[in-house]
Amino acid sequence: MQKSKRRIYMDHAATTPVDPEVLQAMLPYFCERYGNASSLHAHGREARDAVEDARRDVSSLIGAEEKEIFFTSGGTESDNLAIIGTTRKKGKGRIITSSIEHPAVLEPCRYLEREGFEIIRMNVDGYGMVDPSELKENINKDTILITVMHANNEIGTIQDIREIGKIAYDAKIPFHTDAVQSFGKIPINVEEMNIDMLSISSHKLHGPKGIGAIYIRDGIDIEPIIFGGGHERGIRSGTENVPGIVGLGKACEIAKKRMKKDIKGVRKMRDRLIEGLSEKIAKSYLNGHKTKRLPNNVNFRFAGVLGESLVKALDEHGISASAASACSSKDSDASHVLSAIGLGVEEARSSIRLTIGRENDKADIEYLLDVFPRVIEELRLVSPSWNKGCW
Ligand SMILES: *Cc1c(COP(=O)(O)O)cnc(C)c1O
Repeated sequence: MQKSKRRIYMDHAATTPVDPEVLQAMLPYFCERYGNASSLHAHGREARDAVEDARRDVSSLIGAEEKEIFFTSGGTESDNLAIIGTTRKKGKGRIITSSIEHPAVLEPCRYLEREGFEIIRMNVDGYGMVDPSELKENINKDTILITVMHANNEIGTIQDIREIGKIAYDAKIPFHTDAVQSFGKIPINVEEMNIDMLSISSHKLHGPKGIGAIYIRDGIDIEPIIFGGGHERGIRSGTENVPGIVGLGKACEIAKKRMKKDIKGVRKMRDRLIEGLSEKIAKSYLNGHKTKRLPNNVNFRFAGVLGESLVKALDEHGISASAASACSSKDSDASHVLSAIGLGVEEARSSIRLTIGRENDKADIEYLLDVFPRVIEELRLVSPSWNKGCW
C-alpha cells in the first residue's frame, strides 16, 4: 500500500498542540516581563497582574471564584494535592473512588492504602458508568473523601457528576473530580454540580505542558503536599510559572469563546468516524457509552487485531492514534479501564483510541476511513487468531 506523507494527529487525549494565540500571549513573559510574581517592584507587579488575570480566566470557565483557583504543575499534581492534601493528616478513614480513574488518582489512593486508609474502588457498568446508588451504599461514618473522574481519558465516558456531587453534598463529604479531559471541552459548573475540588491540566486544552490548576471550594480543609515559600496562599509553594500560567489563562479564554462551536464540529467528526468504522469493518465494536461520551473520543475494538500493531500500521500511513493499553496498570497487559467495562485481555488488547481535536477537519476523517479498512485487512491476513476463525 502507498505510504502517505500526510500527517494526521488523532491523539488529543494524550496532549494537544499549543494554540498559536496561546504561544503569542506567553512569549513576552520569558524575556521582557520576566519578573517574579512575589516581588514588590514593577517587574514583579507586572507578573502578578498576569497571574491574577489568568486566575480569573480559569475560574470563569467553571463558575468558581478567583480565590478558589490554585496553580500547580499539572493534572497529576492537582489530583495528588486533592487526595493526599485532604486526607493524610486524618491518619485513617475511607476514600471512595472508581475502578477507571487515571493513574494520577489511582496511585495516590494506593499510597494512602499502604498508609492504612481504606480505599473503595467502585465498579462501573459495561459503558464505564458508576452507579450513584452504589456510591450511596458505600458511604459510612468513616468516609473522608469521594473522588470520581468527570470524563474518562480512554473511553470518553462522562459520569453523572451532578448526581454524585449531590450525594456527597448530602453526606457532607468532600468531593473531588479529575476533570482533566472535560475541562474546556464540555460545560462544567462547580456550583450546580456540587464539586468541592476539580483538577485541570493545561496541555489537554491547547495550552503548554507542565502547568495546571486545582479548584478548591472556599472552606475545604486541605494541607499542602509541597512546602516552601508559601506561594498560592500556602497551598502550593514554588515560584509561579508565569508564562505557563498566562498560557493556561489564554487557553481558557479561547475555550470559553469556542466551546459551543467546537463541541458541534468535533462531535460531527466523531459520529462520522464511528459510523464509518462500524460500516466498513466487520467485527468492529465501539467501546464506551454511545451518548454519555466526550465529543472527541472514539474507542474501537477490532477482532483479531492487536491494538499496538494497528497503531504502528496507522503511523506508517501518517495517522497518530493510541493503543488503549498504553497507560495500563503495570501488572497486566490490558488497560484497567477496558477490563473494568468487562473486556477480556484479548479484547482489550485489540482496542485503539482516536481522539479528535478542533484543528482536524472532514478531510482527515475521510482519509482515515479510506486507510482504515485496508490496514485492518492487512493485519487480519497475518493474524493467527483471526484466521483460526475464533471470532
Ligand atoms: C492527562 C491526564 C492527567 C494528568 O495530567 P498531567 O497534566 O499530564 O499531569 C490526569 N487525569 C486525566 C484524566 C488525564 O487525562
